[in-house]
Amino acid sequence: MYAESSLDFDGSIRAKSIRERYQEQERMVLCKQACLSSETKGRLYPIEPCSIRTPFQRDRDRIVYSKAFRRLKHKTQVFLSPMGDHYRTRLTHTLEVSEIARTISRALRLNEDLTEAIALAHDIGHTPFGHAGETILNEIVPGGFSHRRQGLRVVEVLENGGRGLNLTYEVRDGILKHSKGFGDIIPAEPSEWACTIEGRVVRIADVIAYLNHDLDDAIRSKVIHEEDVPLKCKEVLGRDHGTRISTMIKDVIASTRVVDGEMLIAISPHVYEAMTELRTFLYDNVYRAPEVHTEFEKARKLLFDLYEYFLKDKDAFVSESTRMFEEKTLIDDAPYERRVCDFIAGMTDRYAQNLYSKIFMPSPLV
Ligand code: MG
Repeated sequence: MYAESSLDFDGSIRAKSIRERYQEQERMVLCKQACLSSETKGRLYPIEPCSIRTPFQRDRDRIVYSKAFRRLKHKTQVFLSPMGDHYRTRLTHTLEVSEIARTISRALRLNEDLTEAIALAHDIGHTPFGHAGETILNEIVPGGFSHRRQGLRVVEVLENGGRGLNLTYEVRDGILKHSKGFGDIIPAEPSEWACTIEGRVVRIADVIAYLNHDLDDAIRSKVIHEEDVPLKCKEVLGRDHGTRISTMIKDVIASTRVVDGEMLIAISPHVYEAMTELRTFLYDNVYRAPEVHTEFEKARKLLFDLYEYFLKDKDAFVSESTRMFEEKTLIDDAPYERRVCDFIAGMTDRYAQNLYSKIFMPSPLV
C-alpha cells in the first residue's frame, strides 16, 4: 500500500520505499527547526539505508535491543535496590523521560523519533547504585567519570562486543549533552546545549521526570510526606503527582518561542522558580536524608572495594567481565583502569552485590 511509482534521478521508474515516504512526511509535517532524519550527519561507519525505518527509528531499535539498555532495569534511580515493586528504577525513569519528551516534541512538531532515541539512551552510561556509583568512580578513576561520557562510550565502543551501536551523530550528541548535575535546569551557556532542539527537549524532560518521580518515591518510602512539599511548589505546580507533571509539560510547550528563526525551549519564570525550589527541597530532604545517605555510603565502599580488587587481579577481571558482558567486550586500547571502570559501571546493583559477596564474604563449605 505504500509503494508509489516515481521517476528516479536517471529517469527510470521505481517504487518509493516506506522510509522515503515517511521522510517526505517529515518534511511536510515537522517545523523548520526540527531535525529531519534525511539530513542526519550520519554514523561513524556508514550503513545501507533501511527500506522501512529512518536512521533515528533505527537508532531507537538498536538502543532497545542492547544489553546495556536491559541492565537499566536493575540499576538504582535514587532508592538503592528497592524492595518495593513500585519504586522507579533507571529503566522506568528512562521510559518516563521518553514519554514526557515525546509529548513535548510532538506538540512542538519536532522529530519524535529522534527525541525518543535520545531519551531511551540518555542514561545508558549510569553506574549501579545511582549517583553513589558515579561519585566514587569519579573520585578514584584516573581522568574521572561521568555518566554522560560513559553513555557515549557504551554506544560508541562497549556494546556489541567492542564495536558499539554505531548511532547517528545527533543521538550521540544528545546523550553527551543531556545533563549537568545541579546546574541550571535550562543552561544559559549555549555550548552546553545539544546540537538539536530534540536533544534540548530530552534534557528538560529528564528534569521534569526525576523531580516528579523522586518526590513520589520519597513519599512512598516515607522519607518525606506530602505535607512537607513547599507550599509554593504546590500552589504553582499542583497538589498531586499527575497535576505537577502536566503543569510542567504544558508550561514548556506554551513558553517555547521561535526567535530569529531559532527555537528556544523555555519555562515561564514562576514555574521555573517553583521547579528550582522543588529540586532544592529534594536535595536537602531526600538525596541527603540520613536513610538515603547511609545506603549511599555503603554503596560507595562496595564499588571502591571491587575496583581495587580488579585493579590488582587482572585474571579475575578478564574472567568476571567476560562472564558479565557475555563476551570479551573490553578490547579497545583504553588504559587498564578505564577498562575496570567500564566493567564496574556496567554492573547492575544486584550483580555488584552478588559479586561482592562472592569475593569478600565467607561462604560455608558444602
Ligand atoms: Mg536521566
